[in-house]
Amino acid sequence: MVTISPRLDVDRLTRAFDGAPVVDNVSFRIEAGQVACLLGPSGCGKSTTLRIIAGVDVQDSGRILVDGQLICDARTHVPPEQRAIGLMFQDFALFPHLPVRENVAFGLAGGFRANRERVAELLDRVRMTAHIDSYPHELSGGEQQRVALARALAPRPRVLLMDEPFSGLDERLRDGIRDETLALLKEEGTAVLLVTHEPHEAMRMADQILLMRDGRIVQQGAPYNLYNAPVDRQAAAFFSDIN
Ligand code: ADP
Ligand code: MG
Repeated sequence: MVTISPRLDVDRLTRAFDGAPVVDNVSFRIEAGQVACLLGPSGCGKSTTLRIIAGVDVQDSGRILVDGQLICDARTHVPPEQRAIGLMFQDFALFPHLPVRENVAFGLAGGFRANRERVAELLDRVRMTAHIDSYPHELSGGEQQRVALARALAPRPRVLLMDEPFSGLDERLRDGIRDETLALLKEEGTAVLLVTHEPHEAMRMADQILLMRDGRIVQQGAPYNLYNAPVDRQAAAFFSDIN
């Protein structure tokens, strides 16, 4: 029998700081091509969850698998750079001393010279071809964000982790950039875990919402289901201010 593993499998993850649980028995799965939004108020444990998956923090218990391969448990810790996991954080800082082409090629062996086609393809898809030789300070915030997305996707990560990636951008630009980002993620077919505290963003982008509160996933499912059948009054209130 052939069983197909989910792209990302997070299994009963727990992490406490100074005795206080911050990630509390968190489990979820993300399939290839799927965008899951980890949604919850500030301080509920979203970034800690992401950092453990990335391998820059370590769980107290639980395990994580990528394509069925164990990347961490009580005895295993695959180093971050060997996890085939891409990262994009809020301050997606590009390398200021490198032109756009070398920023995008940064995670690729041999740099731009050895990867011209892949870099060109990605810059085309984020509509930044004309800026291939520009430096980050010559770009607007939205343009830098698009280059950062190209950089994160360049090595074809199995999983892409995005922590509040749009929160530094002008509010008026955000929905446009969200839609463009989503289209590119879907073309690439990677599995995405996107952290946000904005219900609107999760409703707009997610195939699956993981609603987090005080370190726990209190509800998970399609955006439509969470919106129409919130698990409790607190969840209902959270979704009620969606514009
Ligand atoms: P979120 O991303 O949802 O805003 P975080 O995962 O960043 O939440 O933080 C969750 C809680 O864990 C917060 O109360 C935060 O202060 C605490 N925390 C995060 N990292 C550490 C750390 N390295 N040491 C102690 N407490 C931490
Ligand atoms: Mg955070």
